[in-house]
Amino acid sequence: MGKVLLRLALCPALLGWGQTDISGERVRAHVKFLASDLLEGRGVGVRGGELATEYLAAQLAVAGAKPAGVNGSWFQPVALVGVHTQPGSQLKAGAIDFQLLTDFVGTAPTQIAQEAFEADAVFVGHGISAPEFGWDDYADVNVKGKTVVLFTGEPPSEDPAFFGGRALTYYGRWTYKYEQALRQGAVAAIILHTTPTAGYGWEVVRNSWGREEFAVKRSGDALAFAGWLSQEAAGRLANAAGGKTVDELLRLADTRGFRAFAMGVKIGGKIISKVRDIATRNVAGIVHGSDTAVAAEAVIYSAHWDHLGINDRAEGDRIYNGAVDNATGCGMLLEIARAWAEAKVKPRRSALFVFMAAEESGLRGSEYYVRQPLIPLGQTSLVLNFDSYFPFGRVKDVVLTGAERTTFWAQIQDVARRYELTISPDPRPEQGSFFRSDHFPFAKAGVPAFSVNGGSTFVANAEASATRLKEYGVQSYHQPSDEYRDDWDFSNMEYLARFGAALGQEAANADALVRLLPVETKPVTLAKAKAGKKKAKRAARGRRK
Ligand SMILES: [Zn+2]
Repeated sequence: MGKVLLRLALCPALLGWGQTDISGERVRAHVKFLASDLLEGRGVGVRGGELATEYLAAQLAVAGAKPAGVNGSWFQPVALVGVHTQPGSQLKAGAIDFQLLTDFVGTAPTQIAQEAFEADAVFVGHGISAPEFGWDDYADVNVKGKTVVLFTGEPPSEDPAFFGGRALTYYGRWTYKYEQALRQGAVAAIILHTTPTAGYGWEVVRNSWGREEFAVKRSGDALAFAGWLSQEAAGRLANAAGGKTVDELLRLADTRGFRAFAMGVKIGGKIISKVRDIATRNVAGIVHGSDTAVAAEAVIYSAHWDHLGINDRAEGDRIYNGAVDNATGCGMLLEIARAWAEAKVKPRRSALFVFMAAEESGLRGSEYYVRQPLIPLGQTSLVLNFDSYFPFGRVKDVVLTGAERTTFWAQIQDVARRYELTISPDPRPEQGSFFRSDHFPFAKAGVPAFSVNGGSTFVANAEASATRLKEYGVQSYHQPSDEYRDDWDFSNMEYLARFGAALGQEAANADALVRLLPVETKPVTLAKAKAGKKKAKRAARGRRK
């Protein structure tokens, strides 16, 4: 036991309950079960996922929480639709015929098995409307019923005040591109792929888009087609549109004062999809608050239970156990729930524990939750998300990207100080990690939300542990080798679960609900954006997940 731990153990009153009660060894027991081969990688809509959700519900009951799902159950059914674009799908621009997978990939967000569209193409640059940065690619153009053509990413910047500098803002994500195209009334949206703007090659786009996509069952308007063109195919389209090149189009898109223009060609397609319903569920339990005046309000703890299931085509080990990602977060949530339920004096507001489905399919469980909240979003104080913890010992720092955007920031810093944790900036702001876990749908809906992530500065064996951490990321992230081992050290999960319990306790007892600070669009204000090169800015943006 290190000096820090010893000192904390001596003054529990300073830290509130939970600090001695939450046990890393109990987290271990949950992780060992959830990540076992028996659970088949906790796939969505298959047996492994059903087993995992039954286990989580049973453990919430054992912990002393009450059911908080629909109709007095532990579950919130999440209706998803699997949409898989089939061979035979066509995409054309004038006389040019694009080939599925070689030249284009995409899906029909309408979730219709036989989708067809044809519309004038309009080039809209990066497809961004960002008044706070004085940038509007849709200014002076009406794209209603049109096919918009655009680049992912955002205008390159080294100035933190302009599109976050090196950090990726949400405007740069491909998800934003399709959402904004739909808001503008477009019928279809096609991203021109380049490796620098996407941050990865065409194979990555093709692999992640060439398979079945899980989406929340459609309600309301949707694009007929959301897709990508390879750079080579994009070159043919650019040439047909007045003899331009992809580079020329990108240069225009990157230029301040860019104006969208008609490309002088119609783009049309017939998109054939295999469409099927997939039933899955979030798991929810609650510990009621002690103050009747505010007990209807809640702090939410979230962690996704799903992982990638079984890959029948893989060689060797085919089970994606997802031990770190995210059996660890689930185990920590169960421990926090238990400590909360056993506390003699409960915090004033309630604590809702939600295990989210289908995070790996694009945050679908949390997206669904935000549409159908179990507690009204206006009565939700703060969402603390737990996703992926490493079993290599205690760290001295945490990454709480997005916490600085809340009215709770001073208290968060205070709790971190009490726990002797340094708050580190997002190590890779250009990757937009803030947009890639279950807190994000909440933040997007205006609810204060962030993930409690461990940093990489270790208390003991700093260098060796940091190396193991890095290696695990490279070798086991989203691989069958993300497996539980008996020699894992759960002290870090124990400590961060205690820290998370203290954060939630503080928010649950606060005078007022935590709120988002007004209009703060830069996801990372902590990061001292070093003047990154254009390339760094462009790196790794807009990954599928
Ligand atoms: Zn995860």
